[in-house]
Amino acid sequence: MVAKVIDGNAVARLVRTECRQRAETLKARNIQPGLAVIMVGNNPASGVYVRNKVKACEEVGLRSELHHFHENTGQAQVLDVIDGLNRNPAIHGILIQLPLPPHIQVRTVLEAISRDKDVDGFHLYNVGGLVVGDTVFPPCTPYGVQRLLEHERIPIEGRNVVVVGASNIVGKPMALMLMQKNATVCICHAKTRDLAQFTILADILVAAAGVPGLIKHEVVKTGAVVIDVGINRLPGGGLVGDVDFDQVRQKASYITPVPGGVGPMTVTMLLCNTVGSAERFAGREGPRPASST
Ligand code: NAD
Repeated sequence: MVAKVIDGNAVARLVRTECRQRAETLKARNIQPGLAVIMVGNNPASGVYVRNKVKACEEVGLRSELHHFHENTGQAQVLDVIDGLNRNPAIHGILIQLPLPPHIQVRTVLEAISRDKDVDGFHLYNVGGLVVGDTVFPPCTPYGVQRLLEHERIPIEGRNVVVVGASNIVGKPMALMLMQKNATVCICHAKTRDLAQFTILADILVAAAGVPGLIKHEVVKTGAVVIDVGINRLPGGGLVGDVDFDQVRQKASYITPVPGGVGPMTVTMLLCNTVGSAERFAGREGPRPASST
């Protein structure tokens, strides 16, 4: 068996086209979805991610604004800016680019974001919503994985899902989202003993550990769907996932490549969450006339 390689770039393009159409519908009501990105410090990787987010907004007709603070900026100043953005009706999504410098408490800053503008889905209110299967802001990376599975019409209900990685931003929300779809879910992490005894049972295996080559073909069930969330930079500069792509591809039914699999979906789902937030805002506002200018 040779797996079908899921083309994340192609699916991301389709979803972005949907987002653009939804943004145009809102424009007819004089509403342009707006995203505010807050970055503190000069982490080079964060700089790349932030630029990608701003560029992606432009591509689909969203307004974006970047609030880039110096490394030494105090927490109070960041909280002040969030407060202003919470009140700003032109902003429908606020995200904090992580990591933050150590003198800023991540939880305090995340909890300061209005739960109605929490497009990353990291506010405890939205985390709770995810647990009970009722959030409007699914965290972007697992949301992207779910969208890839839906696009490929891969059934989830009743299947064995193994998620390798238990972080708050990927592994845990991924497990909750697939449990909500009635999968039988197992979460593995760095302290799991004998990882293979779990992964070999997976009909759908999601690797999100950040360990290159962790998932080799002998730990994968024949015909499994293998989703590689990992992004690992090799010493030579190339990017690889957590899955031994060439070997596992010979055994799986579907597989995502790195790059070009889950990666392009993450920013795309951020756009979806921002547009969705603006649509809910429009619903609360009631009908507004289109601008005559
Ligand atoms: P993290 O470091 O916060 O969490 C990693 C998780 O993997 C932890 O739960 C840890 O216990 C587990 N783990 C580590 N080594 C393990 C091992 N040997 N066996 C089993 N479990 C192990 O990382 P994260 O933020 O969740 O990201 C995970 C990976 O996904 C990274 O490579 C990251 O770059 C990538 N990522 C990709 C995207 C994307 O858009 N594709 C988005 C976010 C993260």
